[in-house]
Amino acid sequence: MRVAVPRTLITGAGFAGSVVARELADAGRKVHLIDRRSHIAGNAFDEHDLHGVQIHRYGPHIFHTNSERVWTYLSRFTEWHPYEHRVRGVVNGKHYPFPINRDTLNQLYGLDLDEEGAAAFLDRVREPRDPVQSSEDVVLNSVGRDLYEKFFLNYTRKQWGVEPSELKAGVAARIPVRTNTDDRYFTDTFQAMPLHGYTKMFENMLDHPNITVELGVEFSEVRQRAGFGHVVYTGPIDAYFDYRFGRLPYRSLRFEHEHLPGVEQFQPVGTVNYPNDHAYTRITEFKHLKGQQHSGTSIVREYPQAEGDPYYPIPNDENEALFKQYQALAEVEPGVSFVGRLAEYRYYNMDQVVGAALVAAQRLLGQLAPQI
Ligand SMILES: Cc1cc2nc3c(=O)[nH]c(=O)nc-3n(C[C@H](O)[C@H](O)[C@H](O)COP(=O)(O)OP(=O)(O)OC[C@H]3O[C@@H](n4cnc5c(N)ncnc54)[C@H](O)[C@@H]3O)c2cc1C
Repeated sequence: MRVAVPRTLITGAGFAGSVVARELADAGRKVHLIDRRSHIAGNAFDEHDLHGVQIHRYGPHIFHTNSERVWTYLSRFTEWHPYEHRVRGVVNGKHYPFPINRDTLNQLYGLDLDEEGAAAFLDRVREPRDPVQSSEDVVLNSVGRDLYEKFFLNYTRKQWGVEPSELKAGVAARIPVRTNTDDRYFTDTFQAMPLHGYTKMFENMLDHPNITVELGVEFSEVRQRAGFGHVVYTGPIDAYFDYRFGRLPYRSLRFEHEHLPGVEQFQPVGTVNYPNDHAYTRITEFKHLKGQQHSGTSIVREYPQAEGDPYYPIPNDENEALFKQYQALAEVEPGVSFVGRLAEYRYYNMDQVVGAALVAAQRLLGQLAPQI
């Protein structure tokens, strides 16, 4: 006799939920994937705006990874447009390469340093810190006070709403300092944008007879329904447990999108950071990301804020301790797996979420009752 195996309910159609859904589906499992938003792809969602320019609704998402496994996996669902992201930082009205490299130093201070000279310069201006615990320690320790104040201090205050001294070292450690003239934002082996966009890539990933997708619905609503077995949850972990220990702090953003008709190019590179001016942190011009040709251009300004959709977990000791309390509950929650940036309260990039989701799916497939 065939016994119907209950479908797995997956909450969140971002990278975490969609990769787990596809892995389970490929292994013969039936899954139902839901999202409270009206679209798939989570924060990576992209679309054409009213003027026909491809934009990212939730801010610029640049794909980069050193993981061949993740690259190969996603390449099943998309072709790629080669793209290396470049960023400039505006200080006193002038644009400088960012992350800081030799050209930044030479242009900022009117110098003519070679690679050795740049290393010696940084060695002279740095303020050694031991131990290196906060983001402030990281930056002062590598580039000293002047560069810290010009490029990092106010940007961090805007972006995170706290002083760099209150943020864990890992946040600033993500940004390198270079003595060569490499002005790419990332140096990963694989750097590219999905040729037809992230949303199309997700559509291909979810195009499987074992996957059903339901949008615009809440987890709490769908969970009441009969017929589901295991649950994979990729939303905020504190929300799952009804904020029992209090709210985990997240940093949110307001995105101000604008189309500029008749302006072919607004800025020289994909993203320009404004560490010291304006309420927004940065402006991204989307046409750079895919080399799209258009007589106008579309940009987005990012305004950090405390309230709103949870975008960035705020990594510090207090929040980590609170997360650990929720994690302890999650570990003993029967029949539920917690995966992804919000469920794991980790400052994950897209490729890291894909990697974590592949591991989670493997583990889950080992645990689920065999399908008859
Ligand atoms: C502004 C910004 C820029 C970024 N830029 C980059 C970048 O350049 N490169 C990079 O690698 N990474 C970038 N990231 C990180 C990237 O967005 C994440 O790594 C990735 O989106 C995480 O995927 P996820 O599936 O864990 O979460 P999400 O994409 O957030 O998906 C979770 C989904 O769950 C849904 N959900 C939550 N709770 C419920 C519920 N109760 N009921 C129903 N649905 C629910 C949400 O609506 C959401 O769609 C950026 C992030 C932000 C915010």
